[in-house]
Amino acid sequence: MTVRKCDFLELTPAEAKGFMAQLGEPAYRSKQVLNWLWQNGAQTFAEMNNLPLSLRERLQVHATLGKLEMVTTEMSADGTEKILFSLPDGQTVETVILPYNIGDSVCISTQVGCRMGCLFCASGLPGFVRNLTSGEIMAQVLQVRRILRTRGRELKSMVLMGSGEPLDNWSSTVAFLEAVQDPLRLAMSLRHVTLSTSGLVPRIAALAELGWPVTLAVSLHAPTNLVRDRVMPINKKYPLEVLLPACDNYANKTGRRVTYEYILIENLNDDDQHASELATLLSGRLCHVNLIPYNAIAELPWKPSSQEKVRAFRDALSAKGINVTIRRRMGADIRAACGQLRNNHCRENEEMRGE
Ligand code: SF4
Repeated sequence: MTVRKCDFLELTPAEAKGFMAQLGEPAYRSKQVLNWLWQNGAQTFAEMNNLPLSLRERLQVHATLGKLEMVTTEMSADGTEKILFSLPDGQTVETVILPYNIGDSVCISTQVGCRMGCLFCASGLPGFVRNLTSGEIMAQVLQVRRILRTRGRELKSMVLMGSGEPLDNWSSTVAFLEAVQDPLRLAMSLRHVTLSTSGLVPRIAALAELGWPVTLAVSLHAPTNLVRDRVMPINKKYPLEVLLPACDNYANKTGRRVTYEYILIENLNDDDQHASELATLLSGRLCHVNLIPYNAIAELPWKPSSQEKVRAFRDALSAKGINVTIRRRMGADIRAACGQLRNNHCRENEEMRGE
């Protein structure tokens, strides 16, 4: 009998049962494996010591338990930790551990590279390579949970804000979110999950239809189409007059306040008029604005706005009744903008190959 080698992290409980049946095993064996994987954080079949040795050996041949290898890590003085993982095909992705007093968070990637081409972003610089599977997305979470457990810490939340546009990798992202909330798998409330999007309107609508309590974080970064067309090419396809109603619909359907992310870049989107236009745009909407001081990237010409400008921008929005915060700068000393660690790694590899 030929059994296709599968990644257990991609299987639903029903599929795991079917897979074990293919191996001639009863249903309770699949529950044992799932328990080892999801609750105990097993990394190998060998450690599943309540399974017969012969079954563990057959599982080793026919299945995997996630497929990430840690390549390197960088730890910031503020505790932010960036990890570069390699995938079976040699590609790499970044994952970031964000320490908070209320419990740690993980920032995960959903694609290798990105095709959205946002002007300020390092992730898209080497181009789009491929989508991650749902198992590769989940493996980042489980690896980080395992690291945190060894430190006596707990993973409390996650953000899909690493490299890639999660809604451009729709089927893997949805399968991942199903696994997150499944009581037999990660068993984490989707209230602790934030999904960041550049603004793929039809997919925002589809996510709203699912009615899951995921927090939607929309990369807005501009108060007008004129500026946003420049910063985010996706705006030409889904301009503000289409994007904002889609976000309102998401808030209505899920009861969740939408977060608008706004990276402040010097002389691009950070003056008083931009703040005033943004306040007008968002007035009366169920939302929150997250102002993000830009992390400068060597390959790009953009500079962060001054601290005074960031504070003035916040105060101008606040004065107009907009709910606004400034995101705490984390990991500024370790190339914290998404994509930078991976870009560096790719460049070093190219140099070693003499390209
Ligand atoms: S900001 Fe997000 S969507 Fe835009 S290029 Fe970077 S990873 Fe892609």
